[in-house]
Amino acid sequence: MRQFEYARAAAPADATSRARAGGTIIAGGTNLLDLMKLEVMTPDAVVDINRLDLHAITATDAGGLRIGALVTNSDLAADATVRRDYEVLSRALLAGASGQLRNKATTGGNLLQRTRCGYFYDTAMPCNKRAPGTGCQAQGGFNRILAVLGTSPHCIATHPSDMAVAMMVLDAVVEVEAADGTQRQIDLDDLYVLPAETPDVETVLQPGDLITAVVLPAPVPATHIYRKVRDRASYAFALVSVAATLRMDAGKIAHVALAFGGLGTKPWRNRAVEEALQGQAPSEEVFDRAADILLADAKGYGSNDFKIPLARRTLKAVLRTATETDQ
Ligand SMILES: Cc1cc2nc3c(=O)[nH]c(=O)nc-3n(C[C@H](O)[C@H](O)[C@H](O)COP(=O)(O)OP(=O)(O)OC[C@H]3O[C@@H](n4cnc5c(N)ncnc54)[C@H](O)[C@@H]3O)c2cc1C
Ligand code: SF4
Repeated sequence: MRQFEYARAAAPADATSRARAGGTIIAGGTNLLDLMKLEVMTPDAVVDINRLDLHAITATDAGGLRIGALVTNSDLAADATVRRDYEVLSRALLAGASGQLRNKATTGGNLLQRTRCGYFYDTAMPCNKRAPGTGCQAQGGFNRILAVLGTSPHCIATHPSDMAVAMMVLDAVVEVEAADGTQRQIDLDDLYVLPAETPDVETVLQPGDLITAVVLPAPVPATHIYRKVRDRASYAFALVSVAATLRMDAGKIAHVALAFGGLGTKPWRNRAVEEALQGQAPSEEVFDRAADILLADAKGYGSNDFKIPLARRTLKAVLRTATETDQ
């Protein structure tokens, strides 16, 4: 690891001004430290935000929940309100990483963790995300875990977060403080950008921006499901995951929200899939139509071709379970 300066931020403004000046924020460090050890990320200065007052989970006036950026994945998964009202989030968190990692990993850091594409971590290989303009070895190489939706000729890397997929289905909003002191809110769906021609640009965040919290709207009564398909039963990233909230009324789907992990270059939500299900009586035909819409633009790159039929099967299985459970 290269030498770097280390500073503990005493206040959000301290963190944002140091980050604006080129410092890299560190929270749990479970992703950043790995990347620094491999020299994939080589910050000259690291800004530790762990002493900031961002550790609380509080109720909002709108009946929702505000989750501080430093709330750990373990604490969030175990929170009584999350387990009762936002069960899909608790389930997704517990499906991610390991107990030790979840004890360190934070809400802000989880959202901004980098892709797990093997070429991104190997500095001997070309990678447009790590070194813009060098090429994308994954397109004709080892791409089993990589994306089939939202890809570009320049990058096909998936976003690896389980937590973000669940937050996407819950319509989460990210609170951000900028280096000039202004605060803004970004819909989680708008936080991430597709790789297009600049896969090194992953979010709409600007230098100096600090994620301070994630806000969830008031809970929607529904059956919550998080189904994660992976190569082994635990401690593995998703090949395909589906987060769902669904409620039935008089034999028809009265509410449905769906988001997907492992498929897209960002946590994936497609409202047209939900519209195809809304108000329908559940049937294999209706579920197939929803899967057709989800996968209409899906493109495999060889080793990850299997994700397309796997996504169909997983979505249909989730819809079957949710519609049978919530009668
Ligand atoms: C072996 C292993 C297995 C894993 N398996 C899974 C899995 O199955 N599912 C899953 O979802 N994740 C998995 N993870 C990833 C893990 O969840 C992330 O590493 C973790 O959530 C990152 O959080 P952190 O607080 O440690 O972030 P850090 O490593 O501290 O930071 C990550 C990035 O976010 C930035 N950052 C952090 N906080 C803020 C903030 N508040 N504002 C602005 N920028 C910020 C940092 O600058 C850095 O770029 C795994 C990790 C490992 C090592
Ligand atoms: S898929 Fe993206 S991260 Fe992976 S090698 Fe290609 S450019 Fe790099």
